[in-house]
Amino acid sequence: RFITFEGGEGAGKSTQLQRLVARLEAQGHEVVATREPGGSPGAESIRDLVLRGDADRWSPVTETLLMYASRRDHIERVIRPALARGAWVVCDRFADSTRAYQGAAGGTDPELIKALEVHILEDTRPDLTLVFDLPTDVGLARAHARAGAEMRFESKGMAFHERLRASFLAIARAEPERCAVIDAAGSLDAVETQVWETVAERLAV
Ligand code: C5P
Repeated sequence: RFITFEGGEGAGKSTQLQRLVARLEAQGHEVVATREPGGSPGAESIRDLVLRGDADRWSPVTETLLMYASRRDHIERVIRPALARGAWVVCDRFADSTRAYQGAAGGTDPELIKALEVHILEDTRPDLTLVFDLPTDVGLARAHARAGAEMRFESKGMAFHERLRASFLAIARAEPERCAVIDAAGSLDAVETQVWETVAERLAV
């Protein structure tokens, strides 16, 4: 089973990911918790190239290609082998983040992104994608409060973050069989319960 967590800044994905992993492990499943960009040594090197330093070092198209280079390495070396041996894979961000960040918000042609999904993901597609949604101002306030956060988009302004949010919600609306929207504005425990109920219902754990 392959589950991805998606959403804008400050949505609390990584905390919730740890909690979901603990619950799945408590049920006796082998779980591989991973993240993008990154998740394998090569992909983490590409993450550093993209996220460290100047936010506009790369053009949107170049950034899209770097994200997909890192994603392919992560898929080949971590995700596919784990799924093949029957482990659960829970990934903090995946292909939808490229649609939202590099596509909807960054301006990369959605046709290019679609073609990359076809050729690079092949059949490695999430069984379930949880879209963590919360008001943009709440998310940004949380992200700012987080010590040492990698905030590439601090300077981008609200419009950019509103586009991101709208894009993730549009993905969830367009693919309701794969996606579920999680109300990420609640308390940690309330969000954890929503996540668990959704996973249990959709994937029959
Ligand atoms: O997952 P997290 O929110 O910690 O993301 C780390 C950073 O990578 C964030 O600043 C996010 O905006 C950025 N990112 C990106 N393009 C992606 C995925 C993440 O710019 N496709």
